[in-house]
Amino acid sequence: MKRIGVFTSGGDAPGMNAAIRAVVRQAYALGLEVVGIRRGYAGMILGEMVPLGVRDVANILQRGGTVLLTARSQEFLTEEGRAKAAEKLKAAGIEGLVAIGGDGTFRGAMRLLEEHKVPVVGVPGTIDNDLYGTDYTIGFDTAVNTALEAIDRIRDTAASHERVFFIEVMGRSSGFIALDVGLAGGAEVIAVPEEPVDPKTIAEGLMESLRRGKSSSIVVVAEGAYPGGAAGLLAAIQEHVRVEARVTVLGHIQRGGSPTAKDRILASRLGAAAVEALAGGT
Ligand code: ADP
Repeated sequence: MKRIGVFTSGGDAPGMNAAIRAVVRQAYALGLEVVGIRRGYAGMILGEMVPLGVRDVANILQRGGTVLLTARSQEFLTEEGRAKAAEKLKAAGIEGLVAIGGDGTFRGAMRLLEEHKVPVVGVPGTIDNDLYGTDYTIGFDTAVNTALEAIDRIRDTAASHERVFFIEVMGRSSGFIALDVGLAGGAEVIAVPEEPVDPKTIAEGLMESLRRGKSSSIVVVAEGAYPGGAAGLLAAIQEHVRVEARVTVLGHIQRGGSPTAKDRILASRLGAAAVEALAGGT
């Protein structure tokens, strides 16, 4: 193997740049050339490729987002689209790929391997932490810390005004962010998509804590835990009790920002390991 490609795909996550950097640096250490593919599978189909040298990845370790850009591609979901992508890879002399992304990205990579025999190693990069086979995905720690900082601020207001706050965090089908943020932020209730959420039980719990003298509470809700997210859950609870509460949706602030030390280190190690695996014939 002489030349490999690297790309980021699907939702961006802090630490993707650190992974790209590690891929490039490790590849050169092993005598491999690297081509950066821009805009994920969409760019692969269009042949959007740039050579990446060791200096091209200087000063990106600490930056959020992804310098290679990311995209979603409908065309890649088709066999024809994947065939086009495989042709572009061949034309560019790319003999192996490092795919940095989430489960959709991995599924696409699997197809490239099966249908076109392109060796691919996946680097788990998603704030959702919803990939099998790794304890943590790149970006998760940063997202949790970002959300936690916001919750700490909201708690100041919740305590001062003696209010209940419903805070919606990211996670359409995965409750990892909600769970970690809720534990670290001292939430009264954590609602996740993986477990049934019963508004009546939550209502009773909130009333019970009020009776115990707790004047403010934080309820953390993963966006996919209940129809309508945090606002939907609050409305359902208010059918049982008259609890006065505020809703805050943290939204996209959870995606960006400079990666934490933990994410930078994880990304660097996984990026380097991916190249070693490719070079070793995996
Ligand atoms: P993530 O990688 O963050 O989970 P997506 O689910 O959007 O993000 O996946 C990124 C891209 O991967 C999609 O836009 C699509 O091009 C490709 N992809 C996803 N699932 C498949 C699949 N089953 N087969 C082929 N390609 C897929």
